[in-house]
Amino acid sequence: MATSQKDIRKLAQVLLRDQGFYSGEIDGLWGKGSNAAFADYSRFLRASGQEIGSEGAIVEDSTVGSITGVVVLDPGHGGKNKTGGSSANNATSSSGVPEKTMTLELAKLIRKELNKISSGRPGSNVKVHLTRAGDSNLGLADRAKVARAKGANVFVSIHYNGFDGRVRGTETLILSAANGNVNDADDRALAERVQSRVFAALSSHDPKARNRGVKDNQRLGVLKDVHLQNPRADLKTRACLAEVEFIDVDVVDKLLNTGPNAKAVRLDVARAMAEAIAEDLEAHS
Ligand SMILES: [Zn+2]
Repeated sequence: MATSQKDIRKLAQVLLRDQGFYSGEIDGLWGKGSNAAFADYSRFLRASGQEIGSEGAIVEDSTVGSITGVVVLDPGHGGKNKTGGSSANNATSSSGVPEKTMTLELAKLIRKELNKISSGRPGSNVKVHLTRAGDSNLGLADRAKVARAKGANVFVSIHYNGFDGRVRGTETLILSAANGNVNDADDRALAERVQSRVFAALSSHDPKARNRGVKDNQRLGVLKDVHLQNPRADLKTRACLAEVEFIDVDVVDKLLNTGPNAKAVRLDVARAMAEAIAEDLEAHS
């Protein structure tokens, strides 16, 4: 079996570290530390008359592959009225920020970060669409139909949770094969990428972040393959629904909305989601 991108990156991290460049945690994640180390290392190479990719340089172009595909991001809820199974709003943060506002802001940030990643990788061609651009609602099937109309390779529905003000954690939902999912393994792979990166981003700011994992949910109309039209042979949309955190928990609200680092945390969550989607596109490019 060929060495995976992840292994190559991990190896590069170790090599950079051994040469005295900080390359982030050696955990397989390709985080900010590693990117900074690459920037440092390429400056060092240039200063010594070499180029990245020249003989002796450990960094090869293959560590960042081009990515191609159509992505539809679905900010959960919106507007004032329930429509087609989609409520105008579900959770509200303890300081009063509605979920629908947070999902729209996050989707816009993810689009920006994904476009950034794409333009940084030569040969890439990624189109990112949102199911809604403002404070309006769409029914669940209509959200999935946006993915179908745009020919989406990846569809991610974005939500925040709320329960009893105490339960918290990050979870990502998919439909199982038993519930009629025709590309369940691909959906799960996408969901695992989203889940692990979003959780890593949150736990880097909050050691009490909780990983609730990838879960099967049979009632999610927005993920139903009949709406995504996955039974068609020519296009199988990989789809999942992220529940980023429980915003009715005070510490979570502080983390994401009212605390001094809230904006930076939200940006890190968006970057994590964009990186997860890029990784998924790369695996299918
Ligand atoms: Zn929701």
